[in-house]
Amino acid sequence: MHDASTPDTPALHPDTLAVIAGRPAKTPDQPMSVPVHLTSTYVAGGELEYGRYGNPTWTAFEETLGALEGGRCIAFASGMAAIAAVLDLVEPGGTVVAPRHSYTGTVAALQEREEQGRLRAVYVDITDTAAVAAACDGAAMVWFESPTNPALEVADIAAIARAAHEHGALVAVDNTFATPLLQRPLALGADVVVHSATKYISGHSDVLMGAVVTASDELADATVQRRSLHGAIPAPLETFLALRGLRTLPVRLERAQATAQELVRRLAGHPALEEVRYPGFGAIVSIVVRGGAEPADALVQRTSLWVHATSLGGVESTFERRRRWALEQPTIPEGLVRLSVGLEHVDDLHGDLVRALDSLG
Ligand code: PLP
Repeated sequence: MHDASTPDTPALHPDTLAVIAGRPAKTPDQPMSVPVHLTSTYVAGGELEYGRYGNPTWTAFEETLGALEGGRCIAFASGMAAIAAVLDLVEPGGTVVAPRHSYTGTVAALQEREEQGRLRAVYVDITDTAAVAAACDGAAMVWFESPTNPALEVADIAAIARAAHEHGALVAVDNTFATPLLQRPLALGADVVVHSATKYISGHSDVLMGAVVTASDELADATVQRRSLHGAIPAPLETFLALRGLRTLPVRLERAQATAQELVRRLAGHPALEEVRYPGFGAIVSIVVRGGAEPADALVQRTSLWVHATSLGGVESTFERRRRWALEQPTIPEGLVRLSVGLEHVDDLHGDLVRALDSLG
């Protein structure tokens, strides 16, 4: 994970890139940070022309995330806008291979496109690399999250990318949970990375944004074209905030991950829990409460620090019983509560959660 580089900054560590990439030139009176460029148009004759085509605040964000992922980044209005733009890369009638357990919005977007006859979706167990490889035959795209939301299954990205490419399929990876600090899908052979920048990248639960990062200029140009035509552009202020968040991602994630690992260790064997799921990295943990929906619903009401809320990746710890959403896959246990571990002290988080778990009796 410590080989991130760009032509300008060879072999710098990701922690350094997160801080230095996308900055204005170091010349007298240049601002240290790229400002919020609030303008809808530009004086004609340059490269930007109009606010739907480009914005210097986007560029700063894109250079930074692009440096971390090792590709060309295109910022979008939300994670779903980024996902829609990538699914649009599939030619009409093409087949998309996707995990059975994916973010509900992604599954809904695939289902809607399938109902409209725009694509065919084939769902697989993403941990079964041989089954994924077999499904790649005739596919236009293999799309997956790893770890998956909220089952936390992990895919073998390199093996799946090899199999997909043998069949000429594009490989797109939603890297929202891992972030480029823990996993760089493009370096493992993927063609496209997608982010809900709403989560860890912005990191403070105050922004909705998305991003696509591509390995090739051709895919980047096609994605820019989607954004320019469909208009799913991020607001300059949101982009500024997302970049500000991205600057501190390495320290935030390091702390959140350490706390998550300690919580997993301390929660193991708690009698109110059937299971503690953790892929071994990152700061998302899924616990399965014994007894299903009712005790899990009680749990999320009985804490004072952990907040029952959807979304994840903020500085504050949140958790959610995922099956409260009608769209969530029926194979996700009713009692599964997804924890997004934030930056509070581990003893406080553990004490709050265990008090609520103990009260379930
Ligand atoms: N991908 C994953 C893994 C997510 O968890 C989410 C949102 O929860 C999205 C994509 C969608 O992102 P957004 O809510 O920013 O549109």
